[in-house]
Amino acid sequence: MMMKDLTQVVHHPQVNEQGFASLAVPVYRASTIIFDSAQAYADRKDRGPDGYSYGLHGTPTTKMLEAQLSALERADHSVILPSGQAAIAILFLTILKAGDDVLIPDNVYPAVRGFCQDYLAPRGIGHRIYDPMIGAGIGDLIGPATRLIWTESPGSTSMEVGDLPAIAEVARARSVLTGCDNTWATPLLFKPLNIGMDFAMEALTKYVGGHSDLLLGSLSLRDRAWYERIRSTMRMLGIGVSPEDCALALRGIETMGVRISHIGGISTDFAHRLQSMPAVAKILHPALSDCPGHDHWKRDFSGASGVFSVVLAPDCDGALDQALGALHVFAIGASWGGSRSLIAPMSLAQARTVTPWPHVGRLLRISIGLEDPADLWDDLSRLLTALTPVGADG
Ligand SMILES: *Cc1c(COP(=O)(O)O)cnc(C)c1O
Repeated sequence: MMMKDLTQVVHHPQVNEQGFASLAVPVYRASTIIFDSAQAYADRKDRGPDGYSYGLHGTPTTKMLEAQLSALERADHSVILPSGQAAIAILFLTILKAGDDVLIPDNVYPAVRGFCQDYLAPRGIGHRIYDPMIGAGIGDLIGPATRLIWTESPGSTSMEVGDLPAIAEVARARSVLTGCDNTWATPLLFKPLNIGMDFAMEALTKYVGGHSDLLLGSLSLRDRAWYERIRSTMRMLGIGVSPEDCALALRGIETMGVRISHIGGISTDFAHRLQSMPAVAKILHPALSDCPGHDHWKRDFSGASGVFSVVLAPDCDGALDQALGALHVFAIGASWGGSRSLIAPMSLAQARTVTPWPHVGRLLRISIGLEDPADLWDDLSRLLTALTPVGADG
């Protein structure tokens, strides 16, 4: 039957898909999903957390990213959230109820501490902060109300590498859940679930996206019941993600292996070479033998990524802002994982509450990008030379 124009315009013509096979990820967009029958519509709830019922809860593009992350994390289930911070918040809100508490490390991503202090605490959910190097000593902090131990390793600015297998073992023996913010390593360099963590979290915004143009986070896990509870929290809060962003993340994953091994090599090389510069008090990089937790890194990780920190000699502070303004290749900025190299001046002394920060000088957090390493070295060594304290030789 011939449709009138105003009917035709809302019906997409069928086209032949036979013989079309693309290597690219198809982007399936949807709010509404339609059903072949009234019965199928009535039964849509029976499709479960992996079925399609509404675009908010996932399209084939979202499911493809979930499946790819599950494969890389050695997980059975993954969910995609609008940001790394959203992934952490949704996990905490799923597990924790009034009267419970969560343990977080003193080097945790700062927004997580803020979430605990300013959102969870007023709702009766407690948190305790632990020394990131605590290892099996975490057992002493587990109380009857402790439901979750959150870890982040290496700490994303201070770079300590915790003994995560020891924490996972103690937690499991005491029936406490564990989760790991694995953003620095990505599942290519470390797989939290393989060492006994219950939840692996990634800020896909960083290395997975890889181009500083998307925001997404993920949670991966093996337990079916927790997976269903997380999905249910997302439904109740109305959380979903754009399939376009998921397709970009899938594209980013395709090149993540070569990007990480390239920038990991450069960051490790620079970390070694920077140590001897007079403006440098200490380099914080897991591949250096004096980095707290270096032995854990060697044991548990298969390599380094591109983020590390430079602790400046204390008397460099005055010249810092001007010297940063003279950078040509590095951009000044805080996020990381994209193609451009970034540098961010930071101070950690105020951020710590249970483990005093041992360094006096300010910190430069560096994220190596994809530029020519010789240009990067020129820029960085010029910066540090400009910061050389008066009277220092060399
Ligand atoms: C960036 C980051 C987050 C938060 O991710 P967003 O997508 O920016 O919300 C969490 N943890 C670590 C270690 C990060 O670097």
